[in-house]
Amino acid sequence: MSLVARIREHIHADGPLTVAAYMERCLSYYYHRRDPLGAKGDFITAPEISQIFGELVGLWCSVCWQRMGRPRAALVELGPGRGTLMCDALRATAQVPGFHDNISVHLVEISQSLKARQQEMLRGLHPLLRWHERVEELPDLPLLLIANEFFDALPIHQWMRTQEGWAKRHIGFEQERFLFQDIPSAFPPPLPYPLPDVPAGALVETCEPALALMHRLGQHLRAHGGALLVVDYGYAQGTCADTLQAVRNHAYASVLETPGEIDLTAHVDFRALAAAAKQEGLAVYGPVGQGNFLRALGAEVRAAQLVNHASEPQRRAVLSGLERLLSPTQMGTLFQVMAICAPTMPPPEGFAG
Ligand code: SAH
Repeated sequence: MSLVARIREHIHADGPLTVAAYMERCLSYYYHRRDPLGAKGDFITAPEISQIFGELVGLWCSVCWQRMGRPRAALVELGPGRGTLMCDALRATAQVPGFHDNISVHLVEISQSLKARQQEMLRGLHPLLRWHERVEELPDLPLLLIANEFFDALPIHQWMRTQEGWAKRHIGFEQERFLFQDIPSAFPPPLPYPLPDVPAGALVETCEPALALMHRLGQHLRAHGGALLVVDYGYAQGTCADTLQAVRNHAYASVLETPGEIDLTAHVDFRALAAAAKQEGLAVYGPVGQGNFLRALGAEVRAAQLVNHASEPQRRAVLSGLERLLSPTQMGTLFQVMAICAPTMPPPEGFAG
């Protein structure tokens, strides 16, 4: 049975689906069935644009590890896509004395097809590569965690402010098409910070799985040490906007058409992630723009090294990749970087000033 038929049947039997339930069904189908990344896929991410991204993120982790006193640790990526970021990170850190000998590498991935892709990409780059479907399976060690464009893929609820109070947005099926339906809710949106003043007609989003994950990882980081680096598009101050978006073939698409064939994401609420992390007693740095973060880590110096002995086409590719990562008109400010660290860890690189 097609995903559309299954969703229709569910709505017929149990009534409209929440946005979160719809998103979850669509995404698990979408990620399991296809490789959505790259020029031929639906969207492209920073590590797919330039090797500099994964290299600098890898080096950032190795510097954290040095500042932690070089313990045995787990290098972890959440939602590694094609495995490109981890591949570049491992290549770049191979020369850091003692780093590879003291880490095991963990990939947290729910999609079997992307897992296969990652296994191929990472073969031979480190002797201890492990895959997990859940963060609960991670070892009781200090963690160096990377989450690039991971939190935006977690399902959100949408809450409409109406004249009467709050309504939760659902997806129903009428007259042969899917449509949004707002159903009154007895509860306001559960945010981990004071609910802003929301005018009637505006909408608030909550991402419960992101907060649950942050609490879980927060407890781990507090008990065993380490840091989490979150890179994603999102907002730092709380927003009252509908950020649910669908992307297909590098263009925006309708959220309700062709479910399962499109990528669905929502902007990340960094303020909510920071609040959850602080509740667990962790130190939060940023968010800062991706451009400033990568510049502080030496992106331009690395690009200059790469173009030094390069051919003209390679030189152009390196520089245009760098421009896409750093420029405020491209990913430089839309993408934000936040670090969440064990309270015992000295401040990490890239967040000063
Ligand atoms: N980080 C990669 C890919 C981003 S796409 C990059 O930057 O290129 C999102 C990734 O998260 C995919 O690998 C997807 O399969 C994975 N993913 C989505 N939801 C997940 C979940 N709940 N648990 C683990 N992985 C998940």
